[in-house]
Amino acid sequence: MEIRSIGIVGAGTMGNGIAQAFAVSGYPVLLTDVAAAQLDRAVKTIDGGLERLVKREKLSVAEKASVIGRVRTTTDLNELANVDLLIEAATENLALKLDIFKRIDAMLNADAIIASNTSSISISRLAAATSRPDKVIGMHFFNPVPVMQLVEIIRGLATSDRTFNAVDAITRQIGKAPVKIKNSPGFVVNRLLCPMINEAVFALQEGLATATEIDDAMKLGCNHPIGPLALCDLVGLDVELAVMNVLFDGFKDSKYRPAPLLVEMVEAGYLGRKTGRGFYTY
Ligand code: NAD
Repeated sequence: MEIRSIGIVGAGTMGNGIAQAFAVSGYPVLLTDVAAAQLDRAVKTIDGGLERLVKREKLSVAEKASVIGRVRTTTDLNELANVDLLIEAATENLALKLDIFKRIDAMLNADAIIASNTSSISISRLAAATSRPDKVIGMHFFNPVPVMQLVEIIRGLATSDRTFNAVDAITRQIGKAPVKIKNSPGFVVNRLLCPMINEAVFALQEGLATATEIDDAMKLGCNHPIGPLALCDLVGLDVELAVMNVLFDGFKDSKYRPAPLLVEMVEAGYLGRKTGRGFYTY
C-alpha cells in the first residue's frame, strides 16, 4: 500500500521532529496536540530547524517555505480521519495511549496504519486496543529526529507483513535507516544502552573510579563520543530509571535492577542537565 499523508498525535519533542522529517521529504503532515501552545511551539521549532538548514545552504528559502506549508496543525483529533499513516507521539503513559488508540481506531479509514513512537509500552498491547491489530506497529524514532538516522520498526504479535513493508518503505523514503525488531521490553537500543549506563552508576557507587574517570575510560577505550554518566545526565536520570524499571519488570531478571545510587539521585531530584545537577553540575 502507498502512504500519501501523515498524521501525528502529540507535538512535543518527538512529534515536531517527526513532522519535520516527513515534511522535508515532501509528505503533507497534520500535527495535533491537546495543547494549542505546544502546536505553536512545534511550528517554531520546525521553522528554527529549517532555518539552520537554509544557513548551511542545504535548503533554499523557497524550499523552506514549501516544507512549512506542508505542516498543518489542529487541536481537533477528528481532522486526522483521512490520513494513511498515523504516528502517535503523545506523552509516555499507558492509559493515555490506550485511550488515543481507541479513539483514532474508531475514526480512521479501515486500511490506515497506526504507529506508536513509544519507548517502553508493548506494541501488542496497544494493538489489542484497536479493531486492526494487524495494522499497528512501532516506529521508534531517536532524538533529535531530524539528525538521528535510526528508526526501530517494532512488529507486534499481530503486525502483518503488509503493514511492516509499507512502514519500512516510507522510513527509507524519508532518508532514515529502519531496523526490524520484535516487540520486547526496551526493543534493542535501550535494552543495550540503558544497562550499560546503569552499570556505570554501579561502578561509581562502588568507588571504582570517579564519574569523569569512568566517562573518560569509555570514551578513550571504546571510542564512545560521550561517556555513560554524561549521557545519562543528558537523557535524564529519571528517564534512565524508567527504562531500567521497564526492563526489570518486563523480564523479571535481576540483571536489570536499577543501581541504588540512580534511584536515590532521582529521589533527590538530581535528574541531570534539566535540573542543573546529575553526575555533573551544570
Ligand atoms: P513530550 O512531553 O515532549 O510531548 C508529548 C506531547 O503529547 C505533549 O505536547 C502533550 O501535550 C501531548 N499530548 C498529551 N496527551 C495528548 C493527547 N491525548 N492527544 C494529543 N496530544 C497529547 O514527549 P516526547 O519526549 O516527545 O515523547 C513522546 C513519545 O515519544 C513518548 O511515547 C516517548 O516515550 C517517545 N520517545 C521519546 C524520546 C525522547 O528522547 N524524548 C525518544 C524516543 C521516543
